[in-house]
Amino acid sequence: MRKQIAAANWKMNLTLQQGEQLLNDIIATPHELKENQQVVFAVPFPYLAMAQQKVAGKKNVFIAAQNCYNKKSGAYTGETSVEMLQSLGISYVVLGHSERREYFNESNQFLAEKVNICLDYKMTPIFCCGEALNVREANEQNAFVAKQLEESLFHLDADAIQKVVIAYEPIWAIGTGKTATSEQAQEMHAHIRAAFAAKYGAAIADNITILYGGSVKGANAKELFGQPDVDGGLVGGASLIAQEFVAIISALK
Ligand code: PEP
Repeated sequence: MRKQIAAANWKMNLTLQQGEQLLNDIIATPHELKENQQVVFAVPFPYLAMAQQKVAGKKNVFIAAQNCYNKKSGAYTGETSVEMLQSLGISYVVLGHSERREYFNESNQFLAEKVNICLDYKMTPIFCCGEALNVREANEQNAFVAKQLEESLFHLDADAIQKVVIAYEPIWAIGTGKTATSEQAQEMHAHIRAAFAAKYGAAIADNITILYGGSVKGANAKELFGQPDVDGGLVGGASLIAQEFVAIISALK
């Protein structure tokens, strides 16, 4: 049975104290997580150690980094290696968020290198993909997302690809309050799964967790997560409000 995940992306928000309070509030609420359900918090780098301590011993709750570098170590001032993250006990890394692609010019090829180094260190990449509004308006979203997967992931073998989590995040829905309809989300998730099936076979494609991201809230999570190929969400704005994120966790199917 594939994993269902409610993942929070705090982006560059909250002070240490606010982050600690938010985690306390969310963790204090009892969650009835099934065996295949997980909660992941992608917090800013300076808060990783605090967050890791908070969730220590909590079943199926994990901390993620929001990025990593593509090199093992060395003279790369200001960057963070996967080895450093691993030494903190971090197990997930968000890669290729559209904000990193846009503001930091991260290419599909560069992301392929980051995916490789994460897998070398047994970290799970949450690989983000998704099209901008002009691509959607030209009805070219399927080819666009397929290219992102091909160029960053399709070099992986059948064993490695199953260790990657996908987050489909249409850029026009991120932080805009404009959510993809559940039909639009399902259509793209089915397309992504079909692309994996064509490359790796149906059984492997069926095992891959595909999250939806883009203005997920407590009020729409159930409908979105209820779609057969939507295995949870990557959540920005609503993950900063304890009550909202708790509702999103409860919407996992
Ligand atoms: C995100 O940051 O990945 C995201 C989907 O943001 P929001 O939920 O605010 O649209």
